Amino acid sequence: MKNKVKYRSAPGVDVEVFLADAAEEFKISHVGIIEIIQNFHREMERGLGREESTLKMLPSFAGRPSGKETGDFLAIDLGGTNLRVLCISLEGNGRYSLKAAERFVIPPALMGGQGAALFDYIADCLKASVERNKINACIFQELAFTFSFPVEQLSISSGKLIQWTKGFTVAGVEGNDVVQLIAEALKRKGLEFIHVAALTNDTASTLAAGCYGDPACDMGVILGTGTNACYLERIARIRERPELTDWRGEMIVNTEWGNFDAGCDNRFDRMLDGASLNPKKQHFEKMVSGMYLGELARLVIVEMVEKGLLFEGINPAVFSVAYSLTTEQMAKTKEAMAFLNDFSMHDVSAADRRCVSEVFRIVSERSARLASAGIAAVVSWMDADIELLHTIAIDGSLFQKYPGYQACMRTLLSELYGERANRISFVPVSDGSGIGAAVVAAVADASHTSSSPLRVAPDKVFYRCDTE
Ligand code: ADP
Ligand code: MG
Repeated sequence: MKNKVKYRSAPGVDVEVFLADAAEEFKISHVGIIEIIQNFHREMERGLGREESTLKMLPSFAGRPSGKETGDFLAIDLGGTNLRVLCISLEGNGRYSLKAAERFVIPPALMGGQGAALFDYIADCLKASVERNKINACIFQELAFTFSFPVEQLSISSGKLIQWTKGFTVAGVEGNDVVQLIAEALKRKGLEFIHVAALTNDTASTLAAGCYGDPACDMGVILGTGTNACYLERIARIRERPELTDWRGEMIVNTEWGNFDAGCDNRFDRMLDGASLNPKKQHFEKMVSGMYLGELARLVIVEMVEKGLLFEGINPAVFSVAYSLTTEQMAKTKEAMAFLNDFSMHDVSAADRRCVSEVFRIVSERSARLASAGIAAVVSWMDADIELLHTIAIDGSLFQKYPGYQACMRTLLSELYGERANRISFVPVSDGSGIGAAVVAAVADASHTSSSPLRVAPDKVFYRCDTE
């Protein structure tokens, strides 16, 4: 029989001191949250005026959906981990039917290869899905492309990739129009009859899907592999964009908040950033999103092991390789820590299990508080005194599956706004990127002439809250 390593905890007091210090390093005080929100507003203001800013505030060329949109659409959603292909009929009044919905894993080699290979793979998946589901190619010819990376949108159906994020480093795509790249791949695969009607991202699609069924929806958030948010902005507030002169009313603006610098990074954040593929970029994403939480927790655990405070100083395989601990493992093992057994770490003492669990709590709670601070910043930008109802459409496994995450987000809103926090609802939107992309495509033509009334609060720029 295989020899089992027996892990026992080190004497208690040092462990407690370490954990208390780590908790302090990851803690963001109430004052800290308010500073983050004020800083966020300043960066929004700068981004909307095309000044240098950590928030790009990208116009999406998509207006507010009315919920009445109809039509038949194919949709592709390139997220961070998966590729989804959908076939959707919008029936109006918030109703839709899905004719097909398939998920494909993006082979890791394609995430760092050549652009043509990635786009050929996407076209292959679309083709396979259409054939397998016997989709009528005479009806479903309009394609909505959800491409969830920072894009400088040139129109509703064209846009250049600014830079890759979430571990992608595919050559020949940055600076190029991704619609042209997918159109070329479709042509190579004999699918030239498919027309790319809209380019959008998961955040805008999630918001559009939320709006389709709920007129109070004015913000979309992603908490998955990466993190991002968009909201409905008045055209008058979007400055230095001559291409928007003909637009009236509101437009979805993509904040690209993953790149926001919350200014509260600790040494673990700096270690993670320094060793990442994109140092000094995507600060907020690296503190918040599913791609990074496991790694942050691992860095804390490794330090505990090195100090002899955990596992008797033996660094087990699962913790010794960068990114070997995933956020999914953190989420699924909150109570039982079953993953320790999966990695042949039997007989881990109850005290050590508790330490690991405490590290997971510290890291995941900061993520939830920051995500919620971002939501508070955007909502209070739209409506400084939270006078209106706001539905926030949220997609992503971190939000939907991490135990306790949503409750922690709500606690922060209550800390900031007391009873008025109840005016802000979170609505999980699964399939958001597919349905919402179809909604964006359907709304595309009509949106810039839309006469839907503005539903916005008086113009108040900076944050206020009713504490103290
Ligand atoms: P994408 O962002 O690629 O669209 P998801 O929204 O499913 O996909 O997010 C995937 C990310 O969510 C993974 O990187 C992982 O870190 C995290 N994740 C996956 N499953 C869970 C889970 N059960 N609990 C918490 N986080 C998870
Ligand atoms: Mg997604």
